[in-house]
Amino acid sequence: MTAADAVRLTAAYDVALLDLDGVVYLGAKSLPGVPIAVAGLGKMRLSYVTNNATRTPAEVWQQLAAMGLPGSAANVVTSCQAAAEVLRGLVDPGSAVLVVGAPALFEAVAAAGFTCVSTLAESPAAVVQGLSFALTYADLTEAALAIRTGLPWVATNTDATLPTSRGLQPGNGAIVSALTTATGRTPVAAGKPQPALFETAARAIGAQRPLVVGDRLDTDIAGAHHARMDSLLVLSGVSSAADALTTAPSLRPNYVARDVGGLADEHPDVGGAGLERECRGWRASSSSGGLTLDGDGDAIDALRALMAVPIVASQIRPGGPAALRALQELGIPTGGDTV
Ligand SMILES: [Mg+2]
Repeated sequence: MTAADAVRLTAAYDVALLDLDGVVYLGAKSLPGVPIAVAGLGKMRLSYVTNNATRTPAEVWQQLAAMGLPGSAANVVTSCQAAAEVLRGLVDPGSAVLVVGAPALFEAVAAAGFTCVSTLAESPAAVVQGLSFALTYADLTEAALAIRTGLPWVATNTDATLPTSRGLQPGNGAIVSALTTATGRTPVAAGKPQPALFETAARAIGAQRPLVVGDRLDTDIAGAHHARMDSLLVLSGVSSAADALTTAPSLRPNYVARDVGGLADEHPDVGGAGLERECRGWRASSSSGGLTLDGDGDAIDALRALMAVPIVASQIRPGGPAALRALQELGIPTGGDTV
């Protein structure tokens, strides 16, 4: 392995589109990889991308600025901005749009040049709908009646739940389900895993070669695939190393790191072909006995080799004590006898 075989992400990509929860912070706490990532950015710029439609970019930025992140509120893109972009493609500029959502959604829709209305009687040309903590039955009624007339319906996102300190509260997906039940229709969604949010963020910052950084395979990494962007999975949030190995190889990220500090790392090339891959001191190979890991070194390099083998594996056979240790460190179930 020579240095030329490694990829320095901060040189290969001009912008990182960073997911927030599980990447930059967990709840209110900044994650430890953040200062490492920021110190190693070089010319790479950051865009902060979130499905959360209840806060304005300025409100999100307040929290990020306090954590020492570079940029301004202009570097924050929420699913409200993405929903407004989707609306632009569906109705004429300046149209009246029925908005059911938080003040942040009204702000984004108005900023895109539309007239926000709250009732069907005001003749909207479309419905846009996002999570609101003040949602009422009257709001749902206006949205349902408007959706029933066949107007375009855009949802900021379809997240089933909203993680909070109290647990998982209903997310916008739950509200969408109520409207779908009442109308028999489904919305166009702007947020991840749909591509509009990443596309809006990349355009807003003028990215030539963006890299999506996220902690969830089902939203961040899936969204990157839909937007045809490369991606880095970080293991500091929801998705685990084991999840990455049980995901279809075509839906895996291009890169993996323990946390967002990995943005500043050199990512080694993974060599090999067929059902065998090598990364630094590790070799992952598939045979009738399943997927086996041999070698020694940093556990994350072992994961890189395993993820590059084009098969789905729910457990890995350790080829020796170092491999067993690495798999245990990664939380990957082991199976078969140690060779
Ligand atoms: Mg996340």
